[in-house]
Amino acid sequence: MPHTPPDPAAATPALRATGLTKRFPVSRFGRKRFIDAVVDVDLDLWPGRVVALVGESGSGKSTVARLLAQLIPHTAGTIELHGETVGKLSSRKFRDYCRHVQMIFQDPFASLNAIHTVRYTLGRAVALHQGLRGKAGEAAILALLDRVALRPAERFIDKFPHELSGGQRQRVAIARALAAGPEVLLADEPISMLDVSIRLGVLNLLAELRDEGIAILYITHDIASARYFADDIVVMYHGKVVERGDSESVTQHPTHEYTQLLIRSAPDPGRDGAVDTQERKETTDGDPNALPPTVDEDNHTAALTASPLESTSASQTEARP
Ligand code: ADP
Ligand code: MG
Repeated sequence: MPHTPPDPAAATPALRATGLTKRFPVSRFGRKRFIDAVVDVDLDLWPGRVVALVGESGSGKSTVARLLAQLIPHTAGTIELHGETVGKLSSRKFRDYCRHVQMIFQDPFASLNAIHTVRYTLGRAVALHQGLRGKAGEAAILALLDRVALRPAERFIDKFPHELSGGQRQRVAIARALAAGPEVLLADEPISMLDVSIRLGVLNLLAELRDEGIAILYITHDIASARYFADDIVVMYHGKVVERGDSESVTQHPTHEYTQLLIRSAPDPGRDGAVDTQERKETTDGDPNALPPTVDEDNHTAALTASPLESTSASQTEARP
């Protein structure tokens, strides 16, 4: 995919995570345990570049995004926005942070409020981030709709989410993120719930935003789409980065066994050696939703791998959004 190379003058990334770590407390059978969902992850997001964070379900990708979006606090590590460490955020500072870093979620139907029209959803974002209301607010909403190629914008502004297709809903969600004028977009599996036929259109829209200079984290379990869309690929497995590099090298010459497995199990019927899901499941040793090793509170070295059965009974003490 053709794109503008990153600005060489940009000496610091838009967003940088160093040693990012998240340990979730869980209580299992009355005992306090932890899940190390993200361990020591380094990540740089540059203006006009896409980094794909690739890994199977449960590998910690969404947790990385939620940490970067400051939706949940990190256990260790640092996050820097334009080279400045982001400390604990007050609600005013959090709103400020949201102007720079916006998130796009997997399920646009869940992320848009079903009882509100596009006008209301985008109007709120425009009022909040741009201070525009009334006529000026409406003009800003129409401009956003146009920017995400929902045209003519007048035809979409009074629609409810259920009146839109999945792809159109995701475009509205992207428009809402853009209302903040962000420099960084964290896109968490933004196309995985969409019809295959419209996925490319949404990826191409994100590519346009990248070309405008936005730094993008593209989260996916599909390494083929990462290769298509991303400049760099970071592969996560059980909370840790196991491989990283430019997309071409990672997909053409993967060095880590897990990356090789992801590539072999990516849907590509034309390629020799593609494995089916059954084989993939066996090779990855079990349920893709299985928890990573938990650590005993009293004895940090006593790691155990939870069975899927245990993982469902684990009561999660930190609420998911
Ligand atoms: P991915 O997005 O790659 O599928 P997640 O980041 O959602 O992975 O999850 C990583 C691990 O952290 C999983 O084992 C998941 O069960 C666990 N996890 C995620 N959120 C919470 C939470 N709020 N409380 C406890 N464990 C969590
Ligand atoms: Mg996820």
